[in-house]
Amino acid sequence: MPAATERKLTAPTTKAHFTAAHKQSLRRRLLAWYAKHARDLPWRRLCDPYRVWISEIMLQQTQVATVRDYFTRFIAAFPDVRSLAAVEEVDVLRLWEGLGYYRRARQLHAAAKQVVELHAGSFPRDVVELQSLPGIGRYTAGAIASIAFDQRAPILEANTIRLFSRLLAFTGEATSAAGQSTLWKFAEEILPQKGVASFNQALMELGSLVCTPKEPQCDQCPLASLCAANKLGLQHEIPAAKPRPTFTHVREAAIIVRKNGSVLMRRCGENERWAGLWDFPRFELDSTGPLFAKQEIVAKVAAQTGIQCAPGAILKTLKHGVTRYRITLDCYDATYIGGRLKSSPAAPIRWTALSQLTALPLSTTGRNIATLVAR
Ligand code: SF4
Repeated sequence: MPAATERKLTAPTTKAHFTAAHKQSLRRRLLAWYAKHARDLPWRRLCDPYRVWISEIMLQQTQVATVRDYFTRFIAAFPDVRSLAAVEEVDVLRLWEGLGYYRRARQLHAAAKQVVELHAGSFPRDVVELQSLPGIGRYTAGAIASIAFDQRAPILEANTIRLFSRLLAFTGEATSAAGQSTLWKFAEEILPQKGVASFNQALMELGSLVCTPKEPQCDQCPLASLCAANKLGLQHEIPAAKPRPTFTHVREAAIIVRKNGSVLMRRCGENERWAGLWDFPRFELDSTGPLFAKQEIVAKVAAQTGIQCAPGAILKTLKHGVTRYRITLDCYDATYIGGRLKSSPAAPIRWTALSQLTALPLSTTGRNIATLVAR
């Protein structure tokens, strides 16, 4: 479309007003902007499905700046889907340590095994088939299909939800069924016939760099003249602010039970907060006062591990947050008294030499404690 015609376009104020000419203008403006402003990110250098997949899973709930180093280390350790499928889950979790949301790593490993066993090591190209793999939902499947295989597959994630909502001045709840339907449909309708890989990445990049959550830079935005929220002055109201979460404060105890230079460690079960990771015996503490707390610790360590211990001093108190919980964690030193490990293949418990703690995948607080006891 000639630039002169484009300039006459008036920003649409609803999805219904987003005409073919608006969509054409959006594609052209967006791709021109992306050609100038795309960041050099490690996962963009070689867009094979494996790398796209790893980066997309890591980027869920995590900032680009954090993911860069994790991605580089992960690819160096497991350069392709076969090498990932061949290792033990514990090795994947160890490399994932600190990135959080560990279920992602476990599903990544399970999906790698499926790609090798069911698809001879090649990623399916079809969006529906991709979604049959553990941890791959509609968005990730769309990202892999479009970025790695240049298929006309739409995407909708945090950045594009915000961008589309503003472009359309969509004031409804983006996560509602109606909101999802509107936004996915828009994501599909604006796709170009070719070059979808760059187009989808450009959408996410614009959302991430320009159409940011708090201070959208509308004066720098290539889509400003097409944006309904900008026209209506609603860019700060869309998307609607989420209600502030109410936090629950809890007190927990982690117990460092020592025996001949080793400490007692257990792998967290499937229904626990850190399923698959290893941890010191840890539980919520109901008692108040040091005497009652120690009695409770003796009983709970025995129930969790089969081991009798004598709790000593609190070595450190850590404060951290998990979802809506604000946790105060007292780390108790304790000595082994007796008892037999209640270990099983599904829930292993073992005495671990301090030098071996580096090999186990631990939560961030677990690693803090391990560093403390290894001094
Ligand atoms: S004009 Fe502003 S609100 Fe609209 S898409 Fe661009 S940055 Fe976002």
